[in-house]
Amino acid sequence: MQYLSTRSADHRVSLSTALQEGLAPDGGLYVPERFPDFGPETFADCTTIEAVSERLLRPFVEGDPLADELTAICEATFGFPVRLRGVGRRTSVLELFHGPTAAFKDVGARFLADSLARLNENADQPLTILVATSGDTGAAVAAAFWKKPHVEVIVLYPKGKVSDRQEQQLTGWSDNVQTIAVRGVFDDCQELVKAAFQDEHWQSRKRLSSANSINIGRLLPQMTYYAYASLQHWRTHGTRPTVVVPSGNLGNGLACLYARECGLPIGDVIFATNENRPVTHYLDTGEWTPFESKETLATAMDVGNPSNMERLRHHWSTAEALAEAISAERVTDEQIQDQIQRGLDEWSTVWDPHTACAVDVRDRLARDTDRDWILVATAHPAKFPEVVEPLIGREVDIPESLAKVMARSHPPPEIDPNLSSLAHVVFDESPSVHP
Ligand SMILES: *Cc1c(COP(=O)(O)O)cnc(C)c1O
Repeated sequence: MQYLSTRSADHRVSLSTALQEGLAPDGGLYVPERFPDFGPETFADCTTIEAVSERLLRPFVEGDPLADELTAICEATFGFPVRLRGVGRRTSVLELFHGPTAAFKDVGARFLADSLARLNENADQPLTILVATSGDTGAAVAAAFWKKPHVEVIVLYPKGKVSDRQEQQLTGWSDNVQTIAVRGVFDDCQELVKAAFQDEHWQSRKRLSSANSINIGRLLPQMTYYAYASLQHWRTHGTRPTVVVPSGNLGNGLACLYARECGLPIGDVIFATNENRPVTHYLDTGEWTPFESKETLATAMDVGNPSNMERLRHHWSTAEALAEAISAERVTDEQIQDQIQRGLDEWSTVWDPHTACAVDVRDRLARDTDRDWILVATAHPAKFPEVVEPLIGREVDIPESLAKVMARSHPPPEIDPNLSSLAHVVFDESPSVHP
């Protein structure tokens, strides 16, 4: 299997190259050249998510140096449960939050981390992953790379601009993971990453790479929980469930579509967004326009210009074509609050603000149609206590894995938003050396 850039079909690379480069040299995103055609019976003997992953991902690593290591990579990726839990009439929740940082991003980050560690085994210098984060991505990446050989991570986050709990998750690391608080906003962190990538001094001293969500190495493993859940549903009910995916940058939703392309028994796919409107606007009007991102209660979905739109438009080239593949529904903050408030009574469940979007979409559409639902739970509610706890009137218990990370939290070095201050911390040198 080869991977091509969304901007030039002639530029084809192996999976390993796509993982290491992240972005194609022409600025495009890597996509698989084709999808294998599996039927549900292909997975008849696969009972664990590790087994399903290995079977599903096998064609995607074909011909790549990682092919021989796929079994080990799938085992390293999971090692925590993915649960499909029935919650009510014809409705199940796909719980993707049992990993180390209690959100679905653990899956993609762990697959990528393990793959990159293996690909750099014989390099004379570790690979340095530089990430700017506004909260959750950084924690998932830090957790995934922590103590992996041949790789190191530098996480930059805006001081005072993330919640206390997010900060504790970002700063609970050591060894090969360094977290730095930047006196500025998220954009300053992102500018610092860009500046380091373009700086000769950094280039000569570090082998820099990024692990952001556009990396195909994060997308592919996300297909596997849709495969696992839809197979489980198929075996029990013999139907193709409608899957509702809380969506922002659209990677998770796209992974669901990829799984369906591979022949898995998935019915309709609905992207549940918050008040940010790029996707619904595109589907409604046929015109693609990025928006300024709007702050909502489902912060991890506050995206005005989702990067995976480029992949969606590559595979489904017009709005009409995309509208055949998916639908999208917008959910307001009031609706999110309302669902969280009613969650315990109606579903015996405490929803996090992102999952609440999927629940609201189901509520709207279940009135008129007769179907089975899988609602994707992208995060544990304990990650967002400031939103959730006042609405349910009690505290949310913190999952053990998350509590462990937070207990290790320690004050990070703080820098001004310029490259010489960053170099000072990273290379342990005087800021005046590289003005
Ligand atoms: C990142 C994130 C999302 C959005 O996923 P995309 O792949 O960016 O669409 C939804 N919920 C949570 C909790 C997240 O962290």
